[in-house]
Amino acid sequence: MFLIKAVLRGGLYQLLLPMEGTQEEEHMKPKERLAIPRQQPKELKPEERITNFDEVTFGFNEETAIKEANRCLQCKKPKCRDGCPIHNYIPEFIRLLREKKFEEAYWKDRETNSIPAVCSRVCPHEFQCEGSCIRGKKGDPVAIGMLERYLVDWMVANNKNMLKPCAMPKGKKVAIVGSGPAGMACAFYLAHEGYHSTIYESLPAFGGMLTVGIPAYRLPRDIINAEFAALVNCGVEILNNVTIGKDKTLQQLKDEGFSAVFIGIGAHASRKLGIEGEDLKGVMHGIDYLRRVNLGEALNLGRNVVVVGGGNVAIDVARTALRTGSDKVFILYRRTKKEMPASQAEIHHLEEEGVKVEFLAAPVKIHGKNGKLTKIECIRMKLGECDASGRCRPVPVADSNFMIEADAIIPAISQDVQHIENPQIEIELSRWSTFVVDEVTMQSSVDWIFAGGDAVLGPQTAAKAAYQGKEAAESIIRYLEGRDLTEGRVPEVEETEK
Ligand SMILES: Cc1cc2nc3c(=O)[nH]c(=O)nc-3n(C[C@H](O)[C@H](O)[C@H](O)COP(=O)(O)OP(=O)(O)OC[C@H]3O[C@@H](n4cnc5c(N)ncnc54)[C@H](O)[C@@H]3O)c2cc1C
Ligand code: SF4
Repeated sequence: MFLIKAVLRGGLYQLLLPMEGTQEEEHMKPKERLAIPRQQPKELKPEERITNFDEVTFGFNEETAIKEANRCLQCKKPKCRDGCPIHNYIPEFIRLLREKKFEEAYWKDRETNSIPAVCSRVCPHEFQCEGSCIRGKKGDPVAIGMLERYLVDWMVANNKNMLKPCAMPKGKKVAIVGSGPAGMACAFYLAHEGYHSTIYESLPAFGGMLTVGIPAYRLPRDIINAEFAALVNCGVEILNNVTIGKDKTLQQLKDEGFSAVFIGIGAHASRKLGIEGEDLKGVMHGIDYLRRVNLGEALNLGRNVVVVGGGNVAIDVARTALRTGSDKVFILYRRTKKEMPASQAEIHHLEEEGVKVEFLAAPVKIHGKNGKLTKIECIRMKLGECDASGRCRPVPVADSNFMIEADAIIPAISQDVQHIENPQIEIELSRWSTFVVDEVTMQSSVDWIFAGGDAVLGPQTAAKAAYQGKEAAESIIRYLEGRDLTEGRVPEVEETEK
C-alpha cells in the first residue's frame, strides 16, 4: 500500500502501542477537558530536514491522539463544522476516536471527505475548522487536522481496507479537465454513483497543485498516489499530457460522447511584479520554480535567493530553495508578520530553518548585467489606511531605497487562471477572469459545462476545491438523470475571497 511508507516514518510502532481504557475519560467534566493542553506532534529537527524532502511533521500516537480528542467539548452546535469547507462530521469522528472506534471514526470522516489523508496534512486548519473551534476563543483549538490524520494513519498501519465500494456503471460518461483536488473529488463522487469519467491532465504528473505546488516535505507523494489508485480502482481513466484547448477542444469532448464536462484547471498563471528587470535571467516565478523542482528537475538557484510574497507559496519556495542547495534565502514581504497570509505553522517552520523575512519591504527594480540579474532595488514600506477587515495598505517610505545582491529572485505573489483556448464555446468569466458558476450547482453559463476549485474561486485551498468538485459531481449526476439541479440544496453562506 502506497501510504504505508509515510505512516512508517510517522511512527507505525507508536500507532500500534496499546493503551489503557478510556472509560474514565469519557466521563470527564468540561473543566477537566479544558485543563488538557493541546498535544504537539514530533517533528524532524531543522538541521536534518533542510537536507531532504522527507515529511517534517509526524502524526500523533494513540496516547496523544486520545488526549487531544478528550479536549473536544462535543458542542451541540459545532462551529468547527461551519469552518470546515467540506463540513466534515468533526465532533462525531472525534467522539468515536476517543472511544477507540478508530475504523468507525475514519468512515464517519469519509462520509464527507474524499481526500482525508491530503486535507489532514495540508489544510490551513487555523483558518478553517480549527479557526472556528470554540476552544480557540480562550486558548488553543482542538488539533482537528492531526486527529483526522491519526485516523488515516491508523487505517494504514492496521492494514484496513480504505476503499469505498465501486458502483455498477450506468452508461453515461463525463470528461474532467484537470487532476487537482477539484477534479479528483468530482471523479470520486461520479465513480461511486456509477458514472465513468476520464480526467484530462496537461502535465506529466497528476494531482494539480498538490503535486506540482505543495512540496513533498508537507505532503508525501505516496499519499497522492494512493488517492489516484483508489480512483483507477473504480474505473476512472486518467490521461496525462493532454491539454484541453490545444490537443482537444471542449466541443470535441462533447462530440466524442461525453455528456458533461467538469473544468477544474486551477490557477496556474503566475502574477507578475510589474517592475523593470523582471525578464532578466535569474528571475523565476514561484509556481514555475516549484513545478520544475516537483517534476524532478535538479535546479539550484545559487547561494543568495530572494523570494517576494507572504503566503504559503512564498514560504514553500523559500524552504524548497534551502533543500536544493541555496544557503542564504530570505523573503521580502511588504506588510508585517501579523498580516502574513501564510499559516502560523509554516511561518514557524520557515524561521526554524533559518530563512529571514524582511518585513515592510518591497522590490522596485531588478538590476542586471549582460542579461542576468545582479541586484534587487527595494524600498521600505509602512502601513497606511486600514480597510473594514482591519487589513492595512502598505505605503512606500520616500527615499528609503536599498539594494540586495542576489543570484535569483522568485516572485510568489499570486496566481491567475490560465484559460483553455476555446474558440467554439463561450463560457462567462468574472472580472477576475475566473469561471462564473451557479453558487449551488457549479454549472457554468453553458449547461453541460460545470467548473470548480481555483478556476472559480481564484487561488484558495485544497478543501475548498474538493468541496466544489463534490458539489459539481452531485449536479452532473442530476443533469445526466434529467433531475432538478437545485432541489433541496442551499447556497454556501461564506463569502469567497478574491
Ligand atoms: C505552492 C502552493 C502551496 C499550497 N499550499 C496549500 C496548502 O498548504 N493547503 C491548501 O489547502 N492549499 C494549498 N495550496 C492551494 C491548493 O493547492 C489549491 O487551492 C488546489 O490545488 C486547487 O485545486 P484545483 O483542483 O482547483 O486546481 P489545481 O490543483 O491547480 O489543479 C488543476 C490541474 O489542471 C491542469 N490543467 C490546467 N489547464 C489544463 C488544460 N487546459 N487541460 C488539461 N489540464 C489542465 C493543471 O495542470 C493542474 O494539474 C497551495 C498552492 C500552491 C501553489
Ligand atoms: S468546535 Fe471545537 S470543541 Fe466544539 S465540537 Fe468542534 S472541535 Fe470540539
